[in-house]
Amino acid sequence: MKTALVCGAGGFIGGHLVARLKQDGFRVRGVDRKPHEFIASAADEFVLGDLRDAGFCNEAIDRRFDEVYQLAAEMGGAEFIYSGAHDADIMRSSMQIDLNVLEGCRRHGIKRVFFPSSACVYPTRNQLDAQNPNCAEDSVYPAAPDSEYGWTKLFGERLYLSYARDGTIEPRIARYHNIFGPQGAWRGGREKAPAALCRKIAEASNGGTIEIWGDGQQSRSFLFVSEAVEGTLRLMRSDVSSPVNIGSEELVTIDQLADLIASIAGKSLSRTYVAGPVGVRGRNSDNRLIRRTLGWSPSMHLRDGLERTYAWIASMVRQARQ
Ligand code: NAD
Repeated sequence: MKTALVCGAGGFIGGHLVARLKQDGFRVRGVDRKPHEFIASAADEFVLGDLRDAGFCNEAIDRRFDEVYQLAAEMGGAEFIYSGAHDADIMRSSMQIDLNVLEGCRRHGIKRVFFPSSACVYPTRNQLDAQNPNCAEDSVYPAAPDSEYGWTKLFGERLYLSYARDGTIEPRIARYHNIFGPQGAWRGGREKAPAALCRKIAEASNGGTIEIWGDGQQSRSFLFVSEAVEGTLRLMRSDVSSPVNIGSEELVTIDQLADLIASIAGKSLSRTYVAGPVGVRGRNSDNRLIRRTLGWSPSMHLRDGLERTYAWIASMVRQARQ
């Protein structure tokens, strides 16, 4: 039986990835500093602890695994990433966790390691036009990410690629673009735009008003989590050794995203536009490289993923009210 280690298994993408690896017949060890908030983990073993601690990380990586997925990081939506208050934590954590995990892999001769980078690595100067952003993989340098989180991901890419250059590991690196779906943060400050809008719309009564950060014309693409997991596994088992976008090319403005969710909810709502952390003006996945190298790219329509996500968040809102 093949074995996998998933660091960050108690998180949103980690939870879905563990479930998929189990479906595919892997024996899975999950590691996180907390249990999954919304589901019982499908992992065979779930080890609780802090991966910043090298001693704990040595216990978590105490043998060879066929595949290691290193998803643990301080992560959140715009409010979390752009406020500045969490920058030191974001940077310190990712450096400590990634170094500990990489050294664990070196000790046990583990080769195949997945690192989730982010669309946040792309330079701000290429994302000023909401309708025409440039996120081609080779546009990333000269580097100018819009946040310290983006810098940690860019440094992380370079760190993993350095460990590849000296023969320690064979990293596979995805630049995820706004992954969304059920069983992720939906309130509390770490939620991202799709979850935050689903929550606001689920909480609003028909005819009511919701708040939108910025003018609603900023654009993004959003990828449903099952497709992110599919892309991750395809990349992991490929010979593609350079970073590749895993995202959707279905570009929408935040207003259009809110329109879609409101229509799924069957509600007619007014909007007020308020100052808030909005990030770059436009961002979209460029899938030419993934199509060329993996012969695959995500195909699910945004509306389909939003229907599943809205249903889950609306049920969480109902539960929270009881
Ligand atoms: P998440 O916050 O739901 O999951 C991260 C998990 O890491 C959490 O469960 C957290 O408890 C765990 N963790 C953090 N610090 C830890 C520590 N010191 N020790 C042990 N566990 C620790 O986030 P997610 O959305 O599932 O993201 C997973 C990965 O993908 C992250 O590295 C994130 O940066 C990256 N990523 C996500 C997106 C996205 O849109 N969700 C986009 C780009 C990149």
